Parts: sequence; structure tokens; C-alpha cells
Amino acid sequence: MDGVRKSAVVSHEAILWERLGPDDQRVRCKLCAHRCVIPSGRLGACCVRENIDGTLYTLVYDRIISQNVDPIEKKPLFHFQPGSRSFSIAMVGCNFRCAFCQNWEISQLPREQGEVPGRPATPTQIALAARNAGCASVSYTYTEPTVYAEFALDTAREARSLGLRNVFVSNGYMTPELLGLMSGLIDGINVDLKAGRGDFYRRLSGAALEPVLANLKTIQQLGIWLEVTTLVIPDLNDSDDELRWVARYLVDELGPDVPWHISRFYPQYHMVDTPPTPAATLERAWGIGRDVGLRYVYVGNVPGHDTESTRCPACGLTVIQRHGYFTRVVALRNGVCTGCGASIAGIEMA
Ligand code: SF4
Repeated sequence: MDGVRKSAVVSHEAILWERLGPDDQRVRCKLCAHRCVIPSGRLGACCVRENIDGTLYTLVYDRIISQNVDPIEKKPLFHFQPGSRSFSIAMVGCNFRCAFCQNWEISQLPREQGEVPGRPATPTQIALAARNAGCASVSYTYTEPTVYAEFALDTAREARSLGLRNVFVSNGYMTPELLGLMSGLIDGINVDLKAGRGDFYRRLSGAALEPVLANLKTIQQLGIWLEVTTLVIPDLNDSDDELRWVARYLVDELGPDVPWHISRFYPQYHMVDTPPTPAATLERAWGIGRDVGLRYVYVGNVPGHDTESTRCPACGLTVIQRHGYFTRVVALRNGVCTGCGASIAGIEMA
């Protein structure tokens, strides 16, 4: 791919790449499962990594396109420092091209407009801003953090040194090599498991399902706290069979404690003619998740929905109350339900 107009000098060499041979200027990027082979002068599939004379560069290091203080529940992470704030940043670009992307204005900007905008900032500045804003973590989110991993990992190191945690919100398409670098720096991750069918991933996201499934297991093995989100889209992935497959995969391969967020689709990008997901569909998915044995299932993008709060799986007591992004820990002490003494899975659960 080519054609991106860079608005400043490219200066930051990429991580995780190799030349194909000593006399070959082509490089292979090893950041995500596409493993793009990129000729000199061309871009990878994400449109934010460029081969210049046989060296791979990132075009998005130090180009913040979005920066906000968010509730951690917005990621969504419901079992990770509940009620805390997370300093959230993004650069443009994505290694997927989902027809239903809910953040396409920035994730697809390099592909759509051939530009890589953003304002400069250093990892130290971001970490300090996070601490000064009273945040407990830094989140790499909104677009796909895999494609700006250099800046995310450098910032994660700085944030760690200030006592903050780090969070990825991701499509889960990174390579095992990148997961290895994330281990020990990234504490929590929400991964989209968009569907249980490979043809869905190929047709609607331009990617494969298998690397995502493999990474979910690896993430858990690395000790990174994992929550999973499925955007339920009318007529695309909302059948009982499809939802049951996803829920079963989670409970069988990752265990009953992995939180599953069933998120409502709103018309976006190439799917403006598809209606929002009906509440009844989301509630049906919730029932399927609970039915197969998942302990923590949440309906998302429907503020005020009854399933937003966390209930103790042993006694049913509401331990964390939520309404939209208002969160109150009401019956938890040191991660234990004050009603019956059962443990509630998560990180720094109060
Ligand atoms: S991050 Fe993925 S899509 Fe981008 S160049 Fe590397 S392998 Fe290709």
C-alpha cells in the first residue's frame, strides 16, 4: 500500500521487523498477525508503518489524535480497578477495516484520507499528565494500540515507574512476539471477539479469526487481566448458535470468570443502513452467556440496563453498582463479597 501524506518527518524506527535478505530491501513487519511483507517505499496494511530504503518506520510515534480522562468502565473493564479513571490516548490507524467500526473517523483515517495527523507528546508527558489527572491507569484505546505499540510500550514503562497500571483495548491481532513485549507492562486488556466464524472476520474485518482465539489464551497465560467484548450486529452475528459458540468458547477455553461484554451496535461507517441492536437481542445474548456458565455477563452501550452491575455469583448480592459510567463499590472488601465471603475475580477490586 502507498499514498499516505505524512505531515512531518518520519523519525522513529519500528520494533519487531526483519529484512527478507541481505540484498533484499523488502521487510516483514512482525507486529500483528498480518505479518505484512512491505517493499521499499510502501506501507503495511495498517497504513501507518512504512518501509524507507529497507528500514521499517512507524509514522504514528508521538502523534496523539485523541486524549481523554475516561472511567475505566468505558473501555470496558468492569473487574479492573472499578470506579477509577483511566488516561486514554490514541493514534490514527488500524490493522482491521471493519465495515461496522464505531471509531472509523480516526481508525481508518490514514486509509481513507492518506494522512497521519496528531499532536506531539512524549511518553513521559503522557504518564505525568495521567498521574496529575488522578488516573489509576493509562489506556491505549479508541483505535488499535497494536499499530502504535512503540509509543504505547514506552509510555507504559513511564506509567509503571509512577505507579500507574496500563490497559490495551484491542482487536487481539498482535503477534506472540508483541505479546511477549507487553508482558509485565500491560496489566489489563479488553479484546473484541467479534464472532465465532472465520468468514465473518475475513469478509467484514479483512482478518482471520484463529490468531485472535490463540491470543485470548496467551493473554491469560501471561497473567494479563482479560475481558472480552462482542459487538452484536443485527443479522450478522446475532443468532443463538453464533452467540452460544462465542460464549462456550469463553467458558471452555478461558474459564467462567472472564467477563463478557455484549455491546450494542449503532449504525456507522459502511453499515449506516443496519438498525441498532434491539435490547431484546442483547438480553437474549446475556441469557446465553449465563446459561453456558459465564459468571459475569454485561449488556453494554445501553446506559441504565439492569445487567450493568456486578453481582456475586455465589449469593447474588450486588457488589458493584453501575448506572452508565457511574460506579459505586457497595459490597466488596479486598476482592471478597461482604455478603458471603466469595471471591470476585479481577484486579484491585477494592
Ligand atoms: S502492524 Fe500489522 S498491518 Fe501494520 S504493517 Fe505490521 S503486520 Fe502489517
